[in-house]
Amino acid sequence: MAETFDVIVVGAGPAGTSCAYTLAKAGVNVLLLERGEYPGSKNVMGGVLYRKMLEDIIPGFYKEAPVERHIVEQRFMMLDEQSAVTFSYKGLEWAEEPYNNFTVLRAKFDQWFADKAVEAGALLVNETVVTECLVENGKVVGVRTDRPDGDLFADVVVLADGVNSLLAKSLGFHKEFRPDEVALAVMEVLKLDRKIIEDRFSLEGDQGCTFEIFGDSTKGILGTAWLYTNKDSLNIGVGAMLSGLIKNKIRPHQLLDYVKTHPIIRPYIQGTEQQEYLAHLIPEGGYRSMPKVVGDGVIVVGDAAQLVNAIHREGSNMAMTSGVLAAEAILDAREAEDFSAAQLDAYRRKLLDGFVGQDLKKYKDATHHFEKYPHYFEKYIPLMNRAASQMFTVDGSSKWEKQKKIWNELGSAKEKWKMARDLMQAWRVMK
Ligand code: FAD
Repeated sequence: MAETFDVIVVGAGPAGTSCAYTLAKAGVNVLLLERGEYPGSKNVMGGVLYRKMLEDIIPGFYKEAPVERHIVEQRFMMLDEQSAVTFSYKGLEWAEEPYNNFTVLRAKFDQWFADKAVEAGALLVNETVVTECLVENGKVVGVRTDRPDGDLFADVVVLADGVNSLLAKSLGFHKEFRPDEVALAVMEVLKLDRKIIEDRFSLEGDQGCTFEIFGDSTKGILGTAWLYTNKDSLNIGVGAMLSGLIKNKIRPHQLLDYVKTHPIIRPYIQGTEQQEYLAHLIPEGGYRSMPKVVGDGVIVVGDAAQLVNAIHREGSNMAMTSGVLAAEAILDAREAEDFSAAQLDAYRRKLLDGFVGQDLKKYKDATHHFEKYPHYFEKYIPLMNRAASQMFTVDGSSKWEKQKKIWNELGSAKEKWKMARDLMQAWRVMK
């Protein structure tokens, strides 16, 4: 006889596990399927985990979860070829419990989180690929897996299978994502002695910091590089829009090699040893690229629903919140004994009304705007660096003279107007 569950969740990343955990806690018979050898084995994340969303699911989780460092400083670098304008926020309120954000290594973290779902009562089956959704009379009734006799049935199937969600695509929920809707990211984990990390980044104990590096790090392509501190390793990576990489005929590993040898970045990673190399897509199309997220008997969550705020590099938090909201909608549907799209649509409405939908709407035009006008990165970041160099070099000329030089560097009156217009437009798409 075919196996039947109340709910089948496909994918044990942050979205799927949050959903499975919440359902299992409520006594639902839930199956969590993961194609990897173990949860996290297929996952890549530069690694900032946002406390609030997981704390809502498992209060005090950080006391037992394999988190690396709690972040006390966020630095933003506007990088040019030989210089960088950097600003940062360091807050000692983030050094106190319950902390703000943490760095994590996903291979460890995802396993721990999935174990919590299992403890709550979910059944986790690894090394199982879901190859298609089973549909009867327009309703998703289960999944087909790559195991022998691998058809499994449920009242609801939750698609938490990540950025490429072939399953949602095969249901007609979205088309193939375009190269201007996804970023390609590469990342290395670099081993470094704990004490050196703390001295080099001015950290005490388990404090951590993050660098986001714009401009020359992606050779003007929309994207960013990053450098994060773990306990005894660093994560360094670069992610850039696939469309920009194709247009400029640059491979992401070339960008990463460039960043690693850049004279401003190199000293931070000196003496490290490469432990891991990873590549992955990030959905960056935002609100305008969100697919259909609800159908009869099916809900789409996390990256599979394009829930990433690229401007603030938030994805894991949106994934977790979407997983919980999906679980809540399923619990209501069970009460109503109705698993139709109309009933499950409560998930979509709550998602859009909450911080996930609000933030995606806020930046709905931002990615496309900065993608279309690369001069923000190519032209204005070098200009910012030259202005800083001019202003801070003490060479006997007066500060008025320096200001005049900077003003002249901005170009003709027409170019200055263009710059003012660009800044206004940037404000408009970010406000
Ligand atoms: P995933 O984490 O991708 O999980 C999907 C799971 O489904 C995987 O375990 C996969 O193996 C499994 N799966 C896929 N297909 C199938 C199938 N057919 N059958 C069975 N299982 C399947 N977010 C942040 O919040 N902070 C960051 O610092 C950050 N940095 C990032 C850096 C990089 C390089 C990348 C690539 C992403 C980063 N993100 C970050 C985004 C974040 O990783 C994602 O938003 C988040 O992982 C989405 O969770 P998810 O559960 O939806 O998908």
